[in-house]
Amino acid sequence: MDTSRHLNSNLEQPISTLRGVGPKLSAKLLELGIARIEDLLFHFPLRYQDRTQITPISALSDGVEAVIEGQVRAAGVVPGKRRSLVLKIADNSGLLTVRFFHFRQAQVQQMQTGNTITLFGTPRRGAAGPDMVHPEYRMGEAGPLLDIALTPIYPTVEGIGQSIWRRLSEQALAHLHQESPSDLLAGYDDGDFDWLEALTFLHRPPPGASVKQIREGEHPAQLRLAKEELVAHHLSLRDLRARERRYLAPAMTANSALTTQFLSLLPFSPTGAQQRVYEEISTDLAQSNPMLRLVQGDVGSGKTLVAALAALQAIDAGFQVALMAPTELLAEQHLRNFKNWFSALDIQIACLSGRIKGKARTSVLAAIRDNEAAMVIGTHALFQESVAFSNLGLVIVDEQHRFGVHQRLTLTEKGGAAGHPHQLVLTATPIPRTLSMVAYADLDCSIIDELPPGRKPVTTALIDNNRRDQVIERVTAACQTGRQAYWVCTIIDESEVLEAQAAEATYAYLREQLPPSVPVGLIHGRLTSAEKEEIMDAFKAGNIALLVATTVIEVGVDVANASLMIIENPERLGLAQLHQLRGRVGRGAAESHCLLLYQSPLSQNGRRRLNVMRESNDGFFIAEEDLRLRGPGELLGTRQTGLMNFRVARLPDHEYLLDSVEQISERLERSAPERMQALIERWTGERRAFARV
Ligand code: ADP
Ligand code: MG
Repeated sequence: MDTSRHLNSNLEQPISTLRGVGPKLSAKLLELGIARIEDLLFHFPLRYQDRTQITPISALSDGVEAVIEGQVRAAGVVPGKRRSLVLKIADNSGLLTVRFFHFRQAQVQQMQTGNTITLFGTPRRGAAGPDMVHPEYRMGEAGPLLDIALTPIYPTVEGIGQSIWRRLSEQALAHLHQESPSDLLAGYDDGDFDWLEALTFLHRPPPGASVKQIREGEHPAQLRLAKEELVAHHLSLRDLRARERRYLAPAMTANSALTTQFLSLLPFSPTGAQQRVYEEISTDLAQSNPMLRLVQGDVGSGKTLVAALAALQAIDAGFQVALMAPTELLAEQHLRNFKNWFSALDIQIACLSGRIKGKARTSVLAAIRDNEAAMVIGTHALFQESVAFSNLGLVIVDEQHRFGVHQRLTLTEKGGAAGHPHQLVLTATPIPRTLSMVAYADLDCSIIDELPPGRKPVTTALIDNNRRDQVIERVTAACQTGRQAYWVCTIIDESEVLEAQAAEATYAYLREQLPPSVPVGLIHGRLTSAEKEEIMDAFKAGNIALLVATTVIEVGVDVANASLMIIENPERLGLAQLHQLRGRVGRGAAESHCLLLYQSPLSQNGRRRLNVMRESNDGFFIAEEDLRLRGPGELLGTRQTGLMNFRVARLPDHEYLLDSVEQISERLERSAPERMQALIERWTGERRAFARV
């Protein structure tokens, strides 16, 4: 195959070489990750309008956009609170009412009875037949106005109109057809569409193409591209894995003395599942190429203990261990835990986060470099170049979904002379097993499928925000009997500042509402480490009864006496995130409750999603439902809550493609490695900003 032709093509040229693309538009497109002409081909329409044919009025279906051609039968301005221009349009099948609330006198004049008019809009079923409000219209027959293809509607941002997208994709398609670059799945997929046909189809579906089928993602052209995309993702992870496994890693003997000593000091014994998973890890660590292992376990299943056991095996063999957490709060909590567990074993622990600066930072960095600290706990600050280890042997990444694959790999570069460190990834956000092929294909997987004994499921209720007073009474009552509670404030914006402000306001309000016998505390991401530590200690000690918090407490926080959680605006969060949050309660002996204080009115989908939380405590089930119920956002740039954002593929809808994806991947890996690289680049290259984590 001639890959060079593909690489040197016009499609590789910057978008600024297209007609009508000046510096301003160029910059906007760049923000969307569209840098080269080819990128435009991968910016797929969100939906389509069918302006290719006239629909008889009698065949209109409620809510489905359509083109109508008919005669004006009556037109008049109806006075009232909202003055409107009302038309009756007839074709030879029926009568349609059209209303304009904004109109000019000139328009009224146009609408002479008997004139032919063409409309495009969304019909609604009214009491007196179908009704359209503010359709697009033109006087005259539809014939010359009909489009020759379905009209694509592209996902966009402010300032780039649909006509611009159409002009851009038109030019990109022209280049595509001129060059017809090679089909990387030719001979590997036997579908009806090849690459070029499928791309063309999705940008310009011909008349007659089923909008419904495309909307559902089931058109053969979409399936063809979805398959290719999934193959590319799968292969890119396999490729990463293969590269990583070629390095040498330090072999660490199992059954270390430290491990035995640690277990004898532990106040409980590991569950069967923890034991099994640790054994799997232990076997990997004894090998001389890097372990790449993912541990999935529901919230509260005890992943930290498994991580500690792995760490001890590495430390006993004389290597350093880095444990990385996604938030400072969680890093601090791990620090406390590990200090507590390891103090009797005389193991030095260092902590590094973005907040540690100046002299303190210098001395932490020195301890890491000079091997004084065997265990290093931190946030993504551990990725930084200034952090050098003496002999890093094991990297543990907690709550993997917050970090990208590539970020994780930068840590493996810090292994030094001993080779690449082993990698252990912990996650509580499970994805259905069939899907792990495209999410975690670079990792071996272990599952902790058992909770420590004595856990009780959390009872969850949905409560309308206007019943807030009752909720406050309930919190008061619970706290007065010695129980503890979280009150979680959420906001749409990800900004820590705004989130902190929201929490501060709620904190002030609750302090006013609650009696002095219920001490209230506040924690959010803007506090210093020392302040956070102080608050968490006070909460642990029971000196704070109600802790008002932002989503900083989402992961890891562990206070067994807390048995009540209120989550404000839960409809704004993903289900996986809600499940994580809720996992903060239900850790002790008491019956635990979670109240989802939603803002009404809830959308139908919103209610369905929250009901999933009410019905289930099972992280796997919740993750699956979350995938199923999450609709794609209209606008790019709004934060996607998905685990993965594909361009064409939809999971779990396209789960049934995965078998053939696997087969195609295997065949390509065996017999066409050069195509593999081109595919990976085409679909997952760094330049594709949507894939940004
Ligand atoms: P997660 O998997 O969510 O990270 P953690 O590691 O934070 O869970 O563990 C949750 C709690 O369960 C901690 O308080 C931990 O000490 C406790 N725990 C872990 N393993 C066991 C066990 N085998 N028996 C009893 N308690 C355990
Ligand atoms: Mg954890």
